[in-house]
Amino acid sequence: MNMREKDMDQSLIDGQSIEELFETKQGITYKYCYSRYSSFVYDFNILPGYIDFAVTSVSLDTALTRNITLKAPLVSSPMDTVTEAEMAIAMALHGGMGIVHANFPSKEDQAKEVNKVKRYKQGFITHPQCITTDSTVADLMDIKAKKGFTGTPVTATGKYRSKLLGLITSRDVDFIPQSRWATTRISEVMVPRDRLIIGEESLTLKDAYDILENEKKGKLPIINANGELVSLIARTDLKKAREFPNASYDSMGQLRVGAAVSTRETAKDSIKLLAEAGVDVLVIDSSNGSSKYQVELVRWIKENYPNGPDVICGNVVTKQQAKLLIDNGADGLRIGMGSGSICITQEVMAVGRAQGTAVYEVASYARSRNVPVLADGGIRDVGYITKALSLGASAVMMGGLLAGTNEAPGEYFWGANGVRLKKYRGMGSIDAMEAHSSSQDRYFTASDEQVKVAQGVSATMLDRGSIHKFVPYLVRGIQHGLQDIGVHSIKELQEGAQKGTVRFEKRSPNAQLEGGVHSLHSVTSSHHLTTALSMGNPPPRPTLYDKRLY
Ligand code: GDP
Ligand code: 5GP
Repeated sequence: MNMREKDMDQSLIDGQSIEELFETKQGITYKYCYSRYSSFVYDFNILPGYIDFAVTSVSLDTALTRNITLKAPLVSSPMDTVTEAEMAIAMALHGGMGIVHANFPSKEDQAKEVNKVKRYKQGFITHPQCITTDSTVADLMDIKAKKGFTGTPVTATGKYRSKLLGLITSRDVDFIPQSRWATTRISEVMVPRDRLIIGEESLTLKDAYDILENEKKGKLPIINANGELVSLIARTDLKKAREFPNASYDSMGQLRVGAAVSTRETAKDSIKLLAEAGVDVLVIDSSNGSSKYQVELVRWIKENYPNGPDVICGNVVTKQQAKLLIDNGADGLRIGMGSGSICITQEVMAVGRAQGTAVYEVASYARSRNVPVLADGGIRDVGYITKALSLGASAVMMGGLLAGTNEAPGEYFWGANGVRLKKYRGMGSIDAMEAHSSSQDRYFTASDEQVKVAQGVSATMLDRGSIHKFVPYLVRGIQHGLQDIGVHSIKELQEGAQKGTVRFEKRSPNAQLEGGVHSLHSVTSSHHLTTALSMGNPPPRPTLYDKRLY
């Protein structure tokens, strides 16, 4: 008997069980949002438990779908300002997973991103920037200015997977005066192929690093049997090489990745390409998953691809929607309608559900069918993740929280008051719908329709630094949350909630104010603060994550 059960024997039962928390049938959220739309809403806290174990021993192992487990319950959303290959690689290295969006000019472009993740080998630069012999030193300097490195393989076509002809590094160009950059060709200054130290494709990372160390070289080009460049290894990466013990690998040792597909007929062609690229999970991307189109598509996938990929259906917010999709073959569900940070569905359509209630109700049903659920949208900080897990979600899907990171697509730019920003837009925003057709599919707007009804907005997010620092922060934050609740794992958290040993308490609006930062003259750490103040809202609790500290 653990300490928590002993407490219950002694009639020290406090707070509410999860059933009691939701029995009012009022929509409950994770946390009061400081937004002009909020009114007097209740949210909830989880009561603390007994700690007799280290935070690092808390296990975050979880099921994403019927067949896929992750070491961290974190998934990046299929949005064109959130997940392409770079984000998906970083998420998978840290034990989560990225779902590549479908808003590309062509289905081949999407499959290419999946391919990049599948072909990723730690330490190997699998898509090195190359240059041709006819280019000039000025072109090389342009690469340096835009990308930050100079070590560039010279190939026949100027692209990788083409014949390697030489290598050019900063040592070859350091003493060329700027006045000669435009007239000096790469062929005049490169180290030609026959004087290069080169690795074969079969080389292990360790052997490659040994070569770099012994030969005192900065770059090692790797070629295949035809002499074509397939990757590059940089000495600088040797120094910062790190382990990713929790990385999400498939049975072949490749990183796991998901991809979104629409419910249109054209999705079948995309699915073929994605399956060939080795995608692990398909996410059928609809704002309302209980449609004839989605049912037909999931059935078609199951008939044509009986051995995988797994299929996550959605979005859903009711038990009835969940039943329909599970009956037709869903391996996982995505929960949320109108809870996303850039989302205006509840405003425009008057349809949706409070996210806490949606997760609790759908997860309760899906558990009885052995289908894991993803809580999608409305995750603003690490505590929200712990709350979503306590309500029965196996993992959370995040858009806005990851959108300002280095690994999110798009370039940073400077905002009016000197802050570094990245763009973040809803897939149902006019902006995204006009970019390509697939986000119109998600929101059921025909491409030729004259009147478009937006269900999302375009926004900007503050720079959050790299996923390689941010996700470890989220992971450790969740571990701390679970430790405080007194449970050793996500499984124990959810079993405790069902048994009534993990206790909850509804929080009044005043209690929420008390739980946030208050009564201060000024606050310095302020990711949320800047946004909220610019909207004319009261100052909220600053985010706990400050990228300067990690
Ligand atoms: P350089 O000596 O100027 O080429 O730069 P460093 O070797 O010091 O740093 C290059 C860094 O950029 C390494 O961490 C690489 O892994 C990374 N990188 C990412 N993509 C590429 C690429 O296409 N080419 C090169 N050379 N480096 C890349
Ligand atoms: P966030 O993490 O930013 O709170 O929410 C991200 C989620 O919002 C996505 O995973 C997706 O489910 C949802 N979403 C993305 N774009 C839109 C949109 O334009 N409208 C609506 N209603 N939801 C969106």
